[in-house]
Amino acid sequence: VILLYFSLIFYFGACWGSFLMATYFRRQRHLSIVTPRSYCDFCQTPLPTYCLFPIFSYALSHGRCVFCGTSIPSTSYLTEILSGLLWLFIMQCISPSLLLIVSFLILSFLATEDFALRQIDTRILIFPALILTNWDFNFTRFGLLILLLILILNNFEKQSCFQWIGQGDIEVIIFLALLWGIPLTSWIVLLASMIALVTMLLTKLKTLPFIPYLLIGFIFSMILNP
Ligand SMILES: [Zn+2]
Repeated sequence: VILLYFSLIFYFGACWGSFLMATYFRRQRHLSIVTPRSYCDFCQTPLPTYCLFPIFSYALSHGRCVFCGTSIPSTSYLTEILSGLLWLFIMQCISPSLLLIVSFLILSFLATEDFALRQIDTRILIFPALILTNWDFNFTRFGLLILLLILILNNFEKQSCFQWIGQGDIEVIIFLALLWGIPLTSWIVLLASMIALVTMLLTKLKTLPFIPYLLIGFIFSMILNP
């Protein structure tokens, strides 16, 4: 039973990693996440459902497209295994709760979008923020919810205050504060900023997508501060 439990956790991580990879490539080509159906990059044949299971499909087809026989880069296979292992590791280090898993899934999805496009669609934050505020009400949370809704429903990106940090980044930070409270969120932002700063110094990049760093900061502060 324990083995089954760990395998399920591992496989969930692998599926999520595979989904994020697909999101990354589709966003880069400005495609929707759901349509068109996944296809082979070489022969363009849409893939049948049995080709869409991470790890298993690759192993069963010996790493080749079942239609044209072109070998599929093993990086995708490795990424699936790695994300499964990473997910296992994260689940071991922290005591998993629904709130935590939801935050992690949303953050990693937005981080992937930010990484691919430098632009995120924060409307997916509205629904979980509403549910949580309704479920566990307090006035700080309600205030943050109003602020979040005003920001998401209006575009202030042209204002000079958003030259340094994107509006989407602010929205995600407010969302984190709504979920986890202001003190912990301050830690997450501080950690994220420090890691981003070191990256900028090392790579000499002028701008960075910030959500991936928020995600790293989030994972670290969850591991350090259970
Ligand atoms: Zn093919």
